[in-house]
Amino acid sequence: LTTRILIAMATGISLGVLLNSAMEYQWLPASFEQVLNTFIIDGAFDVVGQIFVKSLKLLVVPLVFISLVCGCASLGGNSRLGPIAGRTLLLYMFTTAAAISLALLAGTLVQPGAGIGLAEMGSFAPKEAPAFKEVLINIFPSNPIQAMAEANMLQVIVFSVLTGLALSKMQGESGKTLRNWFESMNELVMKMVTMLMNLAPYGVFCLLAGLFAELGIEAIAKLIKYFLTVVVVLMLHAFGVYTALFKFFTGLSPLMLIQKMRSTLAFAFSTSSSSATLPVTLNTVENRLGVHNRVASFTIPLGATINMDGTAIMQGVATAFIAQAYGVDIGFSGYLMVVLTATMASVGTAGVPGVGLVTLAMVLQQVNLPVEGVALIIGVDRLLDMIRTAVNITGDSVVSTIVAKKEGALDEAIFNDPNAGLAEL
Ligand code: ASP
Repeated sequence: LTTRILIAMATGISLGVLLNSAMEYQWLPASFEQVLNTFIIDGAFDVVGQIFVKSLKLLVVPLVFISLVCGCASLGGNSRLGPIAGRTLLLYMFTTAAAISLALLAGTLVQPGAGIGLAEMGSFAPKEAPAFKEVLINIFPSNPIQAMAEANMLQVIVFSVLTGLALSKMQGESGKTLRNWFESMNELVMKMVTMLMNLAPYGVFCLLAGLFAELGIEAIAKLIKYFLTVVVVLMLHAFGVYTALFKFFTGLSPLMLIQKMRSTLAFAFSTSSSSATLPVTLNTVENRLGVHNRVASFTIPLGATINMDGTAIMQGVATAFIAQAYGVDIGFSGYLMVVLTATMASVGTAGVPGVGLVTLAMVLQQVNLPVEGVALIIGVDRLLDMIRTAVNITGDSVVSTIVAKKEGALDEAIFNDPNAGLAEL
């Protein structure tokens, strides 16, 4: 399946780029181009792509709720939730702060914004960012149904943890029955995930072909320095920081982890959404990497919501870029402020396409940079969004495996077996 997904990805991108060039340079007769646009790019590709993403999203809320209830219920009487949550949050914050620092350093060294003409700027109207106090209060739901209907992940997580903990304390027969019911439901949702994964090659192909057919690549040429800086830092973070952390804390092979994550990364890349990829990430982390459900069910949904290292990297380079383009020096304290706010912004960034740009506005405001500067980089953000989302979910999986190792909840036989979990697909 991984091979099929990767082939679909490659052919989708190639076809998309080809179609884009064909239209750009008018290789095709106008009438043919219109048919192509209406029936294929805007038609078939869009329909299949959107249905694919919707079906993934469909599973997110039931999966997080059921899986997290099972996870917390299996923690038993001597709850380990405190240490698991503590370690997870610490690692999520640390990796994000490292990511943004690396990005700022690269942005300062490379100077991608030096000499950029502000004349070409379009407009960008920022959304009002909610106050930190509100963000904190909003983690707690007042109505579980509403939280689920709105797919407010942090609220769903809080409700699920509460339900799971209460369930773990129900001693008698009814508790056992209910736990069994949740276990069976968990199996059911996981089956649905694997069913969907089998359709992935078609979904991925259509999403990417449609996207690249519309994505003008000329914008990249103008912003090539910015674009490459972000990509290089993303790679450094994924292959440097994560690899080192993973090796240091677990002693296991980072290569094995990356290899097993390949198809999940393809999902993240094609959907640009950590949230939509969540069912696949959870499946991979549990069945392919051997992380026990009691750790994965908590760390992965939480990570998809609050841990966005790739997004933080884009925000770091973008802040440096915009400061340079406007000729403003934000100074050392400014950079420190960016590290702080971007780490917080990463918590507040929902795992859906393009939100990173919205929270970037919040970061810029903190250091008094013009928010309109976002308009400078908007042209290349779609492509960067795909790559950074893949980094975001790699971070979640790395942290989840490290925490599992520390908690004695990692099945190393599964982790080290290249074929483990493949039968599940
Ligand atoms: N698309 C990213 C994600 O879902 C968020 C962002 O950077 O816009 O992880």
